[in-house]
Amino acid sequence: MAAAAGCSAVVPTELNPREIYYQVSTFDALNAGLFEGMVSIDQLRARGDFGIGTTEGLNGEMVVLDGRFYRIRHDGGAEEIGGEERASFAMLTYFDRDATFEMPAGLDYPAAGKYIDGRLPTLNAFQAIRLQGVFSRVKARSPARQDAPYPNLTEALKNQSIFEFKDIEGVMVGWRFPNYSGGINAAGYHFHLLTADRKGGGHVLDFTSSKVSVFIDHTPGLLVRLPEGDSSFDKLQTGPQ
Ligand SMILES: [Zn+2]
Repeated sequence: MAAAAGCSAVVPTELNPREIYYQVSTFDALNAGLFEGMVSIDQLRARGDFGIGTTEGLNGEMVVLDGRFYRIRHDGGAEEIGGEERASFAMLTYFDRDATFEMPAGLDYPAAGKYIDGRLPTLNAFQAIRLQGVFSRVKARSPARQDAPYPNLTEALKNQSIFEFKDIEGVMVGWRFPNYSGGINAAGYHFHLLTADRKGGGHVLDFTSSKVSVFIDHTPGLLVRLPEGDSSFDKLQTGPQ
């Protein structure tokens, strides 16, 4: 069959299930304090081997790396999460590397974001990003576990722990979301650090690169698991008020 006139794009094939970005809940719901657990870690294993999120009650920062599910606790320690625990928010895919490049040393978070932006083929797709190497400085955080009835995210983060790392080797697991993400997720970059000794990390607030390799997985599909049978989600005011 001849291609349509003026169309030089590659004809897409049907989505490979490994190329789907799978999300539990929405960013609006997380912001509003919907911290109930939804999908178990064992169920999430069928959705990806790479990603970030949090578990029921905003219990720490979740890091999924090479198929293992870790929690960075409020006290800064790291542990593997049990299969029966449930995520209240998660962003996962199977990481199949599409591109690799080195990041210049001395870039802070905003500069690193601009640098990666310039190397991506598009800013309009979901990009899973693995930053691996040595960071001269990382500032990261982890929230305290909350009890129901839950406060909203801003309230819940008031007693978060902040961790400062110097010359730390590790992996930042994360994503870049397109500007059109809206209330589904926050546009831009979002990383969780796991140190090379698998003993610490957190949600990344700021960093400076030293010797960092960047691995990218372009993800052309999106699947969102909405909260179901949850009246606080059903009645949540979303979008422009
Ligand atoms: Zn985070």
